[in-house]
Amino acid sequence: MKLDQPNHIAFLVGFVVFTGIRHVYQSRTRNVETAEKRLDGRELSLLAVVSIGMMILPLLYLFSAQLAVADVTFPPFVPWCGFAVMVFSLVLFWRSHADLGLFWSVTLEIRKEHRLIDSGVYRSVRHPMYTSIWLWSLAQGLMLENWIAGPSALVTFAPLYFIRTPREERMMVEVLGDEYREYMGRTGRLLPRMQRPRSS
Ligand code: SAH
Repeated sequence: MKLDQPNHIAFLVGFVVFTGIRHVYQSRTRNVETAEKRLDGRELSLLAVVSIGMMILPLLYLFSAQLAVADVTFPPFVPWCGFAVMVFSLVLFWRSHADLGLFWSVTLEIRKEHRLIDSGVYRSVRHPMYTSIWLWSLAQGLMLENWIAGPSALVTFAPLYFIRTPREERMMVEVLGDEYREYMGRTGRLLPRMQRPRSS
């Protein structure tokens, strides 16, 4: 049983908060009308792969002995660094849902009367929610002492991020045109831009 260790309990609490935030915003946006939905086989498979790495494997690790062959022991500071990363990622995950509000969606969607959000955590970063998921995935790797369940979120989120982000940006340009292009010029993808914004 893994739940006799504080880092595993902390991970589980974080996991409940993470899924709780998703659940709250999913129910808030359930009835918002969608103008366009880009949900194809590729998007569905990427989401399925992510749920294996971010839900099934961590839960299997915490609640069964099936992944025990891959158990490792980290020096105690490693999981606690992971905990700090996890707390930061949860705050960013929550803020990005709150700032996107009714324009948030699990898949690539355009809502009726969709407009650009460029305030709050979207002021200087275009994909703060994906930043928070990268950080969450890193935290999982540092908090779960297992070579399968630890890195599984990083490994499974990577294809979704690298395939989806360019598609999402193309979709936003198609819908919002120059407004989004200019926004791209003054923001960073995952982190705020270091250089001065490109003049348009
Ligand atoms: N990629 C963003 C948002 C993920 S949610 C992030 O990581 O923070 C995905 C949906 O958010 C997309 O389908 C798109 O419709 C919407 N979206 C993304 N960026 C937006 C923005 N700046 N303003 C309004 N909607 C946005």
